[in-house]
Amino acid sequence: MEHRGPQVAHQARVLIFPLAAQGHVNSMLKLAELLALAGLHVTFLNTDHIHDRLLRYTDVRARFAKYPGFLFRTIPDGLEEDHPRAGDRITDVIFSMNEKTKPLLREMLVSGQLGSDESPLVTYIISDGIFGGFTIDVAEELGVPIIHFRTGSASVFWSFLFFPDLIESGELPIRGKEDMDRLIKSVPGMESFLRCRDLPGFCRVSDTSDPLLQLIAQVTQQSRRAQALILNTFDVLEGPVVSRIQSNCCPKIYTIGPLHALLNAKLTNNTNGSEGPSSNSLFDVDQSCITWLNSQPPKSVIYVSFGSITVMTKHDLMEFWHGLVNSKKRFLWVIRPDLVEEEGGAGSVQRELAEATRERGHMVGWAPQEEVLAHPAVGGFLTHSGWNSTLESIVAGVPMICWPYLGDQQINSRFVSEVWKIGLDMKDVCDRKVVEKMVSDLMVEKREEIEKSTAEMARLAKKSVNEGGSSYSNLECLIEDIRLTRR
Ligand code: UDP
Repeated sequence: MEHRGPQVAHQARVLIFPLAAQGHVNSMLKLAELLALAGLHVTFLNTDHIHDRLLRYTDVRARFAKYPGFLFRTIPDGLEEDHPRAGDRITDVIFSMNEKTKPLLREMLVSGQLGSDESPLVTYIISDGIFGGFTIDVAEELGVPIIHFRTGSASVFWSFLFFPDLIESGELPIRGKEDMDRLIKSVPGMESFLRCRDLPGFCRVSDTSDPLLQLIAQVTQQSRRAQALILNTFDVLEGPVVSRIQSNCCPKIYTIGPLHALLNAKLTNNTNGSEGPSSNSLFDVDQSCITWLNSQPPKSVIYVSFGSITVMTKHDLMEFWHGLVNSKKRFLWVIRPDLVEEEGGAGSVQRELAEATRERGHMVGWAPQEEVLAHPAVGGFLTHSGWNSTLESIVAGVPMICWPYLGDQQINSRFVSEVWKIGLDMKDVCDRKVVEKMVSDLMVEKREEIEKSTAEMARLAKKSVNEGGSSYSNLECLIEDIRLTRR
C-alpha cells in the first residue's frame, strides 16, 4: 500500500484576487475557471459584497462545485454596506481595498483559510494589478510567487506606466477644453494619435497631486515587482506594445485573451458544445431580449450598453433616446436600475421610454451580453468602451460606437477608432444629432468599410484562442509554470 505521510508533496494552489468590480471579477473568474479546467486547485477571493451578488444572480456555486479543489473565499472591501460602488464612487473601492485589505489578506494566507486538506498552502498568487504593491508586499514576505493580472488592454497599461513622465515633463495637467486635442508625446509608440482627450478623466485635473492620478501612477509602477504579467489581450491585436512592455517593465508576459473566448473554446471542446458561455453577472439577467432579437432581421439592431459602472444624467439619457429613435434603427438598450444618477434612478424613465419605443426598441435592466453580441440580428454596439465589452465585440465581429465614461475607456475608444479601425469614437459629446449621425454611419454609410476590419479582427481573435493559437499556447505555459512552482 502506498505510504501517504507528511513527506508527500501537496498540490499547487493558486489564489486569484480581483478588484471588487464587474469587469475585474468577470475576467478573473474566467481565468479561474480555465485553471480549474486544467486540474489546478484554485481559491477565488471575492469581497463579501460582490460575492453576495454573484450568488444572487448566477449559478457559480453549482458551476464551480464540479472542479476538485475549487474554493470561494471572501474578504471585506472596507466600505459601508449601502455604499453605491458605481459611477465616480467606484474609486472608493480602489482606495479602500488598497488601504485596508493588506493585513486581512496576510492573515488569511498565514492561517490557512485559503487552502484545503489536499492543497493547504497557496503556492501562487494571481493578483489584480490595480492593487499595486500591497499584494506583492504580502507575497514577498511569505515567499509566495506573485503575478499581476492587468484587466485592461496592454496599450492602457503601457500608457499608465508613463504617467510619472507626463507629470514630470509638464504634459499633465490638461489645461482646459482648448487643450484637449494636444498630442501627448511621452508615451512611446503613441505620439501620433494619443491626445489629451484620450487620457482618463482623472487626468483632467488642475493639479497633478490629484489622489487618483497619483494612485494610478504609483500602482502601475508596482507591477514591475511582479514575477510576470497576465494580459487579457492577444498578440495580433497588441503585439508591438506587449514587446515594449516586455523590454521596459516585465520580461515575462502571458497574453491569454480574449479570455471569454478562450474559456468558451475550452468548454466547447470539453463538453462537445453542450455548455454555453458561463455568466458572471452581478445583475439580474433579462433573457427577454434574446426572444426579441430572434424576431429581428439580420444585422438590423444596434445594441446599447454602458457596462456596470457608468452613470449618466437624465438629460444625457434623453439625448441618446432621441438620437436612437431619430436614426430609425432598431435598438436593444440596457438601462441598469442605477444608470441614471438623479433621484428615482432609471426605473420610471425606462418604463416611459419602453412604452414610446415599443415598435423598434427593446429595453432591459441587464442583458446576457456575450449572447447578445453573438446574435445574428445585432449589427452594431453603442458602448462605453470597457475592456471586456470591447473584447466581446471584437470576437463577435460587431462594429462599435464608443462613448467612454471613465478610467481606461477613453484610451480604448481611441484605439478602436484610430488604430484598429473597428468603430467610431463619440467621446465628450452627448447630443441627439450626433447620436443619430453616428448610428446611421455605423449601420449604413460606413458599414461596409468598418465591417472589413471587424470581420478580420474577429477571425484573428478566434484563431488566437484555438489550439495552436498564441493565447491558447500562452495559457498552457502559464499552467505549466504554476504546476512547477513549489513553496
Ligand atoms: N455585461 C453584461 N450585461 C450587460 C452589460 C454588461 O453581461 O447588460 C457584462 C459585459 O459582457 C462585460 C462586463 O459586464 O463582460 C462589463 O465589463 P467592462 O469591462 O466592459 O465594463 P465595466 O462594467 O467594468 O465598466
